[in-house]
Amino acid sequence: MQEQKIIQVKDKTFAVSIPESELKQQIKRVADQISSDFAGQEPVFLAVLNGSFIFAADLLREIDLHCEISFVKLASYQGTSTTGTIREVIGLNFDITGRPVIIIEDIVDTGLTMAHMLDTLKGHNPASIDICTLLLKPTKLQVKLDVRYCCKQIPDDFVVGYGLDYDGFGRNTKDIYTIV
Ligand code: 5GP
Repeated sequence: MQEQKIIQVKDKTFAVSIPESELKQQIKRVADQISSDFAGQEPVFLAVLNGSFIFAADLLREIDLHCEISFVKLASYQGTSTTGTIREVIGLNFDITGRPVIIIEDIVDTGLTMAHMLDTLKGHNPASIDICTLLLKPTKLQVKLDVRYCCKQIPDDFVVGYGLDYDGFGRNTKDIYTIV
């Protein structure tokens, strides 16, 4: 029997749950689907920092389309009492008006981050917006969210690696690990 890979990130112990080979396979499957669905179009990929940087790099290299990518963050700050919370996508350095947009996210948990992102991006009048996530915890979703592309659904356990962190650490692994 193969020895199970275990890592320590700060005070927590994690064991491999999705090996690199499976990630590669699932990412290729999703990339092929996107390339086919958007054939003849020039989509804009918006990779949500920080967690999606490795996924975005691997996904984009499997995409067979003329496309652009921008790395964005969703910033929220308190406005005046009449405007409430203001949300802004920072890092969006070109015009997405009339363009097909594909958001690249590391993991959808409650779905609130993606719901806010969709709301904010709609204000820029893109032709379409789709979500592409590496991981999805379906049992945790709190909002109705149409996740068109998902590499893998996972149970409701905390994961790290392949770009995802625990308190800033643990992003630099090839496999994904689940807390034990
Ligand atoms: P949501 O708004 O969908 O609840 O949360 C999405 C964000 O929460 C992700 O982009 C990620 O930063 C963080 N997150 C949710 N679940 C996990 C997890 O299991 N591991 C890590 N590292 N981050 C997570």
